[in-house]
Amino acid sequence: MNVTDYAFIGIGRMGANMAKRLLDGGFSLTVYDASRRAVDELVAHGAQGAASAVEAADYAETLFLSLPTPEIVHAVALGPKGIAEGSRVKQVFDCSTIGPEMARSVAAGLAERGIAYLDAPVSGGVGGAKNGTLAVMVSGPREVYERAKPALERFGKVFHVGTEPGQGQVMKLANNMLSAAALVLSSEAIALGVKAGLDAAQMVDVINAGTGRNSATQDKFPRSVLPRTFDFGFATGLCYKDLKLCVQAAENLGVPMIAGSAVLQMFGVTQARFGADSDFTSIARVVEEWAGVEIKSQA
Ligand code: NAD
Repeated sequence: MNVTDYAFIGIGRMGANMAKRLLDGGFSLTVYDASRRAVDELVAHGAQGAASAVEAADYAETLFLSLPTPEIVHAVALGPKGIAEGSRVKQVFDCSTIGPEMARSVAAGLAERGIAYLDAPVSGGVGGAKNGTLAVMVSGPREVYERAKPALERFGKVFHVGTEPGQGQVMKLANNMLSAAALVLSSEAIALGVKAGLDAAQMVDVINAGTGRNSATQDKFPRSVLPRTFDFGFATGLCYKDLKLCVQAAENLGVPMIAGSAVLQMFGVTQARFGADSDFTSIARVVEEWAGVEIKSQA
Protein backbone atom coordinates (compact mmCIF):
# COMPACT_ATOMS: atom_id res chain seq x y z
CA MET A 1 0.00 0.00 0.00
CA ASN A 2 1.20 3.55 -0.85
CA VAL A 3 0.32 6.98 0.48
CA THR A 4 -2.07 8.63 -2.00
CA ASP A 5 -3.17 12.22 -2.69
CA TYR A 6 -6.71 11.48 -1.51
CA ALA A 7 -8.97 8.69 -0.24
CA PHE A 8 -12.64 8.15 -1.08
CA ILE A 9 -15.05 6.20 1.13
CA GLY A 10 -18.47 5.24 -0.26
CA ILE A 11 -18.14 4.63 -3.98
CA GLY A 12 -21.77 4.05 -4.95
CA ARG A 13 -23.80 5.77 -7.64
CA MET A 14 -22.32 9.20 -6.86
CA GLY A 15 -19.02 8.33 -5.17
CA ALA A 16 -17.74 5.98 -7.90
CA ASN A 17 -18.17 8.65 -10.55
CA MET A 18 -16.59 11.35 -8.39
CA ALA A 19 -13.67 9.07 -7.51
CA LYS A 20 -13.12 8.32 -11.21
CA ARG A 21 -12.94 12.04 -11.91
CA LEU A 22 -10.15 12.39 -9.33
CA LEU A 23 -8.25 9.49 -10.94
CA ASP A 24 -8.82 10.89 -14.44
CA GLY A 25 -7.56 14.27 -13.17
CA GLY A 26 -4.21 12.67 -12.32
CA PHE A 27 -4.65 12.34 -8.54
CA SER A 28 -3.68 9.11 -6.79
CA LEU A 29 -6.53 7.65 -4.75
CA THR A 30 -7.26 5.03 -2.07
CA VAL A 31 -10.86 3.78 -2.03
CA TYR A 32 -13.01 1.89 0.46
CA ASP A 33 -16.61 0.70 0.28
CA ALA A 34 -18.59 -1.94 2.19
CA SER A 35 -19.19 -3.54 -1.22
CA ARG A 36 -16.15 -5.45 -2.49
CA ARG A 37 -17.47 -5.19 -6.04
CA ALA A 38 -17.49 -1.39 -5.83
CA VAL A 39 -13.84 -1.40 -4.66
CA ASP A 40 -12.78 -3.83 -7.41
CA GLU A 41 -14.33 -1.62 -10.09
CA LEU A 42 -12.33 1.41 -8.92
CA VAL A 43 -9.13 -0.63 -8.55
CA ALA A 44 -9.58 -1.62 -12.20
CA HIS A 45 -9.74 2.14 -12.89
CA GLY A 46 -6.38 2.76 -11.16
CA ALA A 47 -7.28 3.25 -7.49
CA GLN A 48 -5.66 1.51 -4.53
CA GLY A 49 -8.20 -0.59 -2.58
CA ALA A 50 -8.44 -0.42 1.23
CA ALA A 51 -10.02 -3.07 3.45
CA SER A 52 -11.60 -0.66 5.95
CA ALA A 53 -12.30 3.01 6.61
CA VAL A 54 -9.37 3.19 9.04
CA GLU A 55 -7.03 1.77 6.40
CA ALA A 56 -8.16 4.45 3.94
CA ALA A 57 -7.44 7.02 6.68
CA ASP A 58 -3.95 5.55 7.15
CA TYR A 59 -2.98 6.23 3.53
CA ALA A 60 -4.24 9.76 2.80
CA GLU A 61 -4.38 13.11 4.61
CA THR A 62 -7.56 14.18 2.86
CA LEU A 63 -10.66 11.99 2.68
CA PHE A 64 -13.90 12.31 0.74
CA LEU A 65 -17.08 10.54 1.86
CA SER A 66 -20.22 9.74 -0.14
CA LEU A 67 -22.29 7.54 2.16
CA PRO A 68 -26.05 6.94 2.23
CA THR A 69 -27.30 7.98 5.70
CA PRO A 70 -26.33 10.12 8.73
CA GLU A 71 -26.01 7.00 10.91
CA ILE A 72 -23.59 5.35 8.45
CA VAL A 73 -21.43 8.50 8.25
CA HIS A 74 -21.30 8.58 12.07
CA ALA A 75 -20.26 4.91 12.24
CA VAL A 76 -17.66 5.22 9.47
CA ALA A 77 -16.19 8.37 11.04
CA LEU A 78 -16.30 7.59 14.75
CA GLY A 79 -17.14 3.89 15.13
CA PRO A 80 -14.74 0.93 15.47
CA LYS A 81 -12.18 0.81 12.62
CA GLY A 82 -13.42 4.27 11.71
CA ILE A 83 -11.70 7.31 10.24
CA ALA A 84 -10.92 8.82 13.67
CA GLU A 85 -8.50 5.94 14.31
CA GLY A 86 -6.54 6.67 11.11
CA SER A 87 -2.86 7.61 11.45
CA ARG A 88 -2.53 10.01 8.49
CA VAL A 89 -5.91 11.70 7.98
CA LYS A 90 -6.04 15.46 8.68
CA GLN A 91 -9.27 16.53 6.98
CA VAL A 92 -12.52 14.96 5.80
CA PHE A 93 -14.81 16.41 3.13
CA ASP A 94 -18.23 14.82 3.50
CA CYS A 95 -20.15 14.79 0.22
CA SER A 96 -23.05 12.81 1.77
CA THR A 97 -26.36 14.45 2.66
CA ILE A 98 -26.72 13.99 6.42
CA GLY A 99 -28.32 17.18 7.77
CA PRO A 100 -26.78 19.90 9.95
CA GLU A 101 -27.21 18.17 13.34
CA MET A 102 -25.23 15.07 12.36
CA ALA A 103 -22.63 17.18 10.55
CA ARG A 104 -22.02 19.14 13.78
CA SER A 105 -21.85 15.96 15.84
CA VAL A 106 -19.36 14.21 13.51
CA ALA A 107 -17.30 17.42 13.27
CA ALA A 108 -17.09 17.59 17.09
CA GLY A 109 -16.10 13.92 17.35
CA LEU A 110 -13.36 14.23 14.73
CA ALA A 111 -12.11 17.53 16.20
CA GLU A 112 -11.24 15.62 19.40
CA ARG A 113 -8.73 13.69 17.29
CA GLY A 114 -7.43 16.84 15.60
CA ILE A 115 -9.21 16.02 12.31
CA ALA A 116 -11.09 18.78 10.45
CA TYR A 117 -14.55 17.90 9.09
CA LEU A 118 -16.01 19.98 6.28
CA ASP A 119 -19.50 19.70 4.78
CA ALA A 120 -19.26 19.20 1.02
CA PRO A 121 -22.68 17.90 -0.09
CA VAL A 122 -23.35 17.93 -3.80
CA SER A 123 -26.24 18.43 -6.19
CA GLY A 124 -26.58 17.49 -9.83
CA GLY A 125 -27.28 13.76 -9.81
CA VAL A 126 -25.34 10.84 -11.24
CA GLY A 127 -24.99 12.64 -14.59
CA GLY A 128 -23.40 15.62 -12.85
CA ALA A 129 -21.06 13.31 -10.92
CA LYS A 130 -19.98 11.65 -14.18
CA ASN A 131 -19.43 14.88 -16.08
CA GLY A 132 -17.97 17.00 -13.28
CA THR A 133 -20.90 19.42 -13.29
CA LEU A 134 -22.10 19.07 -9.70
CA ALA A 135 -22.75 22.01 -7.39
CA VAL A 136 -20.49 21.44 -4.36
CA MET A 137 -21.50 23.26 -1.14
CA VAL A 138 -18.57 23.44 1.25
CA SER A 139 -18.61 24.78 4.79
CA GLY A 140 -15.68 24.72 7.18
CA PRO A 141 -12.29 26.41 7.65
CA ARG A 142 -11.47 28.42 4.52
CA GLU A 143 -7.77 27.51 4.44
CA VAL A 144 -8.54 23.77 4.49
CA TYR A 145 -11.08 24.32 1.71
CA GLU A 146 -8.60 26.33 -0.39
CA ARG A 147 -6.00 23.55 -0.20
CA ALA A 148 -8.45 20.94 -1.48
CA LYS A 149 -9.96 23.17 -4.17
CA PRO A 150 -8.14 21.55 -7.12
CA ALA A 151 -9.70 18.21 -6.18
CA LEU A 152 -13.14 19.65 -5.36
CA GLU A 153 -13.17 21.42 -8.74
CA ARG A 154 -12.96 18.01 -10.44
CA PHE A 155 -16.52 17.46 -9.12
CA GLY A 156 -18.02 20.67 -10.50
CA LYS A 157 -18.75 24.22 -9.42
CA VAL A 158 -17.58 24.75 -5.84
CA PHE A 159 -19.11 27.21 -3.38
CA HIS A 160 -17.71 28.03 0.06
CA VAL A 161 -20.99 28.79 1.84
CA GLY A 162 -19.81 29.17 5.43
CA THR A 163 -17.19 28.38 8.03
CA GLU A 164 -19.38 26.29 10.37
CA PRO A 165 -20.15 22.57 10.10
CA GLY A 166 -23.80 22.06 9.07
CA GLN A 167 -24.10 25.16 6.88
CA GLY A 168 -23.27 23.28 3.68
CA GLN A 169 -25.89 20.71 4.70
CA VAL A 170 -28.57 23.38 5.14
CA MET A 171 -27.74 24.72 1.67
CA LYS A 172 -28.07 21.22 0.21
CA LEU A 173 -31.37 20.46 2.00
CA ALA A 174 -32.90 23.72 0.77
CA ASN A 175 -31.88 22.84 -2.79
CA ASN A 176 -33.22 19.30 -2.57
CA MET A 177 -36.55 20.39 -1.14
CA LEU A 178 -37.01 22.65 -4.17
CA SER A 179 -35.98 19.89 -6.56
CA ALA A 180 -38.34 17.33 -4.94
CA ALA A 181 -41.21 19.83 -4.80
CA ALA A 182 -40.77 20.47 -8.52
CA LEU A 183 -40.99 16.74 -9.21
CA VAL A 184 -44.16 16.28 -7.11
CA LEU A 185 -45.98 19.30 -8.54
CA SER A 186 -44.91 18.56 -12.12
CA SER A 187 -46.29 15.01 -11.72
CA GLU A 188 -49.62 16.38 -10.47
CA ALA A 189 -49.87 19.09 -13.13
CA ILE A 190 -49.00 16.76 -16.01
CA ALA A 191 -51.31 13.97 -14.78
CA LEU A 192 -54.08 16.60 -14.70
CA GLY A 193 -53.40 17.53 -18.32
CA VAL A 194 -53.21 13.92 -19.50
CA LYS A 195 -56.55 13.14 -17.86
CA ALA A 196 -58.04 16.15 -19.65
CA GLY A 197 -56.78 14.74 -22.99
CA LEU A 198 -53.51 16.65 -23.43
CA ASP A 199 -50.32 14.98 -24.68
CA ALA A 200 -47.73 14.56 -21.91
CA ALA A 201 -44.66 15.18 -24.11
CA GLN A 202 -46.21 18.29 -25.62
CA MET A 203 -47.16 19.52 -22.15
CA VAL A 204 -43.51 19.23 -21.10
CA ASP A 205 -42.47 21.22 -24.20
CA VAL A 206 -45.02 23.94 -23.46
CA ILE A 207 -44.07 24.16 -19.79
CA ASN A 208 -40.38 24.39 -20.72
CA ALA A 209 -41.19 27.30 -23.03
CA GLY A 210 -43.25 28.95 -20.29
CA THR A 211 -43.00 30.04 -16.68
CA GLY A 212 -43.71 26.60 -15.20
CA ARG A 213 -40.35 25.21 -16.30
CA ASN A 214 -38.26 23.57 -13.60
CA SER A 215 -35.63 20.86 -13.07
CA ALA A 216 -38.27 18.10 -13.29
CA THR A 217 -39.76 19.23 -16.61
CA GLN A 218 -36.36 20.07 -18.09
CA ASP A 219 -34.52 16.97 -16.95
CA LYS A 220 -36.44 14.25 -15.09
CA PHE A 221 -39.56 14.02 -17.24
CA PRO A 222 -37.75 13.88 -20.63
CA ARG A 223 -35.09 11.46 -19.35
CA SER A 224 -36.94 9.11 -16.97
CA VAL A 225 -40.73 9.67 -16.80
CA LEU A 226 -41.89 10.12 -20.42
CA PRO A 227 -39.77 7.11 -21.63
CA ARG A 228 -41.17 5.26 -18.57
CA THR A 229 -37.73 4.06 -17.47
CA PHE A 230 -37.93 5.60 -13.95
CA ASP A 231 -34.14 5.35 -13.67
CA PHE A 232 -32.87 8.88 -13.03
CA GLY A 233 -30.34 7.58 -10.47
CA PHE A 234 -31.53 8.85 -7.07
CA ALA A 235 -33.22 6.40 -4.71
CA THR A 236 -36.65 7.21 -3.23
CA GLY A 237 -35.31 6.27 0.23
CA LEU A 238 -32.48 8.81 -0.03
CA CYS A 239 -34.85 11.52 -1.27
CA TYR A 240 -37.25 10.80 1.61
CA LYS A 241 -34.30 11.00 4.05
CA ASP A 242 -33.23 14.40 2.66
CA LEU A 243 -36.75 15.81 2.94
CA LYS A 244 -37.11 14.55 6.52
CA LEU A 245 -33.79 16.23 7.40
CA CYS A 246 -34.98 19.44 5.73
CA VAL A 247 -38.33 19.60 7.56
CA GLN A 248 -36.54 18.74 10.82
CA ALA A 249 -33.93 21.48 10.30
CA ALA A 250 -36.72 23.99 9.56
CA GLU A 251 -38.54 22.97 12.73
CA ASN A 252 -35.35 23.31 14.79
CA LEU A 253 -34.79 26.83 13.44
CA GLY A 254 -38.45 27.90 13.75
CA VAL A 255 -39.04 28.29 10.02
CA PRO A 256 -42.41 27.26 8.49
CA MET A 257 -42.28 24.36 6.05
CA ILE A 258 -45.94 23.65 5.41
CA ALA A 259 -45.76 22.97 1.67
CA GLY A 260 -42.45 21.15 2.25
CA SER A 261 -44.17 18.80 4.70
CA ALA A 262 -46.66 17.84 1.98
CA VAL A 263 -43.75 17.09 -0.39
CA LEU A 264 -42.19 14.93 2.33
CA GLN A 265 -45.42 12.94 2.76
CA MET A 266 -45.66 12.34 -1.00
CA PHE A 267 -42.25 10.64 -0.94
CA GLY A 268 -43.34 8.65 2.13
CA VAL A 269 -46.19 7.29 0.01
CA THR A 270 -43.80 6.60 -2.89
CA GLN A 271 -41.50 4.64 -0.57
CA ALA A 272 -44.42 2.62 0.85
CA ARG A 273 -45.74 1.83 -2.64
CA PHE A 274 -42.52 1.24 -4.64
CA GLY A 275 -39.84 0.67 -1.99
CA ALA A 276 -36.83 2.68 -0.75
CA ASP A 277 -34.67 1.39 -3.61
CA SER A 278 -37.04 2.57 -6.34
CA ASP A 279 -36.00 5.66 -8.29
CA PHE A 280 -37.43 8.90 -6.91
CA THR A 281 -39.11 9.62 -10.26
CA SER A 282 -41.53 6.83 -9.17
CA ILE A 283 -43.49 9.65 -7.49
CA ALA A 284 -45.04 10.16 -10.94
CA ARG A 285 -46.38 6.59 -10.80
CA VAL A 286 -48.06 7.26 -7.45
CA VAL A 287 -49.91 10.20 -8.98
CA GLU A 288 -50.69 8.16 -12.11
CA GLU A 289 -52.22 5.30 -10.12
CA TRP A 290 -54.31 7.69 -8.09
CA ALA A 291 -55.49 9.60 -11.18
CA GLY A 292 -55.93 6.48 -13.34
CA VAL A 293 -53.76 7.80 -16.19
CA GLU A 294 -50.34 7.12 -17.68
CA ILE A 295 -47.97 10.03 -18.26
CA LYS A 296 -46.76 9.18 -21.76
CA SER A 297 -46.83 10.69 -25.19
CA GLN A 298 -49.85 9.91 -27.38
CA ALA A 299 -47.65 10.34 -30.47
P1 NAD B 1 -25.46 4.68 -3.06
O1 NAD B 1 -26.31 3.88 -2.14
O2 NAD B 1 -25.44 4.38 -4.51
O3 NAD B 1 -23.92 4.62 -2.55
C1 NAD B 1 -23.54 4.56 -1.22
C2 NAD B 1 -22.32 3.64 -1.11
O4 NAD B 1 -21.93 3.59 0.27
C3 NAD B 1 -22.59 2.20 -1.55
O5 NAD B 1 -21.61 1.79 -2.49
C4 NAD B 1 -22.49 1.41 -0.26
O6 NAD B 1 -21.98 0.09 -0.45
C5 NAD B 1 -21.55 2.27 0.55
N1 NAD B 1 -21.65 2.02 1.99
C6 NAD B 1 -22.76 1.83 2.74
N2 NAD B 1 -22.42 1.61 4.03
C7 NAD B 1 -21.08 1.69 4.10
C8 NAD B 1 -20.14 1.55 5.15
N3 NAD B 1 -20.52 1.34 6.41
N4 NAD B 1 -18.81 1.67 4.85
C9 NAD B 1 -18.40 1.89 3.58
N5 NAD B 1 -19.25 2.02 2.54
C10 NAD B 1 -20.57 1.92 2.79
O7 NAD B 1 -25.87 6.21 -2.78
P2 NAD B 1 -25.63 7.49 -3.72
O8 NAD B 1 -26.83 7.70 -4.57
O9 NAD B 1 -24.28 7.39 -4.34
O10 NAD B 1 -25.63 8.64 -2.60
C11 NAD B 1 -24.55 8.83 -1.71
C12 NAD B 1 -24.79 10.13 -0.92
O11 NAD B 1 -24.87 11.24 -1.85
C13 NAD B 1 -26.10 10.14 -0.15
O12 NAD B 1 -25.90 10.81 1.07
C14 NAD B 1 -27.05 10.88 -1.05
O13 NAD B 1 -28.11 11.49 -0.34
C15 NAD B 1 -26.13 11.89 -1.70
N6 NAD B 1 -26.53 12.35 -3.04
C16 NAD B 1 -27.01 11.48 -3.98
C17 NAD B 1 -27.38 11.98 -5.24
C18 NAD B 1 -27.92 11.09 -6.34
O14 NAD B 1 -28.47 11.63 -7.31
N7 NAD B 1 -27.80 9.78 -6.26
C19 NAD B 1 -27.23 13.35 -5.52
C20 NAD B 1 -26.70 14.19 -4.56
C21 NAD B 1 -26.35 13.69 -3.31
